Amino acid sequence: MRQQWVIGNWKLNPRFLDAKTLFETVQTQFGEKKTSCQVAIAPPAPYLGMFVEQVEQLSVVAQDVSTVSGFGAYTGEVSADLLQNMGVRSVIIGHSERRELFADDTPSLQQKIKQARQADLQVVYCVGESLSQREASQAESIVVGQLNDLKDVLTADDWQHLIIAYEPIWAIGTGKTASPEDAQQMHATIRQYLKEHTAYAEQLSLLYGGSVKPENAVQLAACQDVDGALVGGASLEANSFMAIVDAFSQYNV
Ligand code: PEP
Repeated sequence: MRQQWVIGNWKLNPRFLDAKTLFETVQTQFGEKKTSCQVAIAPPAPYLGMFVEQVEQLSVVAQDVSTVSGFGAYTGEVSADLLQNMGVRSVIIGHSERRELFADDTPSLQQKIKQARQADLQVVYCVGESLSQREASQAESIVVGQLNDLKDVLTADDWQHLIIAYEPIWAIGTGKTASPEDAQQMHATIRQYLKEHTAYAEQLSLLYGGSVKPENAVQLAACQDVDGALVGGASLEANSFMAIVDAFSQYNV
């Protein structure tokens, strides 16, 4: 039995009052559904505390975490221990925007993964290739390299606290989506990698991300190894987000 997940990554959106309204709307609409699909919102960090206090059926996910641990003189940082202490249970690590715009390289990502696991946070680890890498037939080797970065810091037990999101960079925020066949092929590669490195391979949820919309969610959800979605733009509109949740709710395999 694999858990289906739909996670809304709000990135640096929306404004505070709109965020409150959107969160309440999503929570109300989700509360009316009968689904075993797990639904989570990853809001900007300053909103986490407010949402954690209001959360009922949804989960709240952090978009990033510091490389430093604990508490102390680290101006501007949000540590895994602070997230755990305030009731956040999951964190996204390795989103392509962090890798590309904020210099998240292998050593810093590995440090973040270690911090998250030491604080007992679930890690939503993002992998994915650029367009030029895909065109050069390097997509699989890039993703496997990113999985190797993960493998090098996880303990045998850590794997079960992991979600992997395959997000081809060329599909994020562009309106271009990987075809269901391409998504399934990469997810099968990731599943095979997991089988070679952990006993938890069959139970781990592999999410697809990259311009997921209500119009393409049903086909993506039907793919055998696509167990949910990491949704950016479409998560900022409650009806779109809920339509994507509906699509994945049919496939709790
Ligand atoms: C994302 O930011 O993780 C994402 C997939 O964005 P979008 O759905 O807008 O492509």
